[in-house]
Amino acid sequence: MDGPPRINIAVDGFSSCGKSTLAKQLAHQLGYTYIDSGAMYRAVALFVIENGLVHEGRLEREALLARLDDIRIHFEHDPDSGRSITLLNGRNVERQIRGMEVSRYVTLVSPVPEVRAKLVKLQQHMGEGRGVVMDGRDIGTVVFPDADVKLYMTARPEVRARRRFRELKARGVEVDYASVLENIERRDEDDTKRAADPLIKAPDAIEIDNSDLTEQEQFALAMEAVEKVLAGGVKRT
Ligand code: C5P
Repeated sequence: MDGPPRINIAVDGFSSCGKSTLAKQLAHQLGYTYIDSGAMYRAVALFVIENGLVHEGRLEREALLARLDDIRIHFEHDPDSGRSITLLNGRNVERQIRGMEVSRYVTLVSPVPEVRAKLVKLQQHMGEGRGVVMDGRDIGTVVFPDADVKLYMTARPEVRARRRFRELKARGVEVDYASVLENIERRDEDDTKRAADPLIKAPDAIEIDNSDLTEQEQFALAMEAVEKVLAGGVKRT
């Protein structure tokens, strides 16, 4: 017997906009798989750092391209925390990819078209069976242009920096608020201005500015959009 149709949901937006919180809530509510595409770019950045492919703040691009096939990224469910963990060449790198060093280097690797092509292919493969909620920057525009629901999240930079600062502190990371804000603003600039797959709102995306919304309010808005699509029946060509 067929169950209800399964759809793909794209959640795009700026850094620290609450995308992952919302995407996880949606996945949980719908029994779907949550995929953090940013973790994959972060894992590539970690590979670059660990393999000495950055010199004086500059990416050794040719060296990275020569080693792209050596980078294997996948996700696993961690039964202890109940969360998904990111593996880089079989090693759990969940903690390292969330630190400030990776946050500083990630926008060196994310504009590289060959890196994007590799990760987009992997992401599309993960979404083939549908029933996926994926968050990132180019999910509704490039990865799943046919996603049934596209959400575009925004919030004021100070609100985002405050949230990210609290989150890092709670995880025991030593940071100061000013450098968190600076990193967020720089990544906004890098992510929207890059040539390859920049962050832009898909024409059919629903924009949610959550600066003054609670998590429950934003979840309710998103679920409303999802339920509308599910109630209208999902057409597949
Ligand atoms: O989502 P998160 O902030 O963890 O992403 C880290 C970085 O990875 C972003 O600043 C962006 O440069 C890159 N990214 C991307 N495309 C995606 C997801 C993340 O370029 N789909």
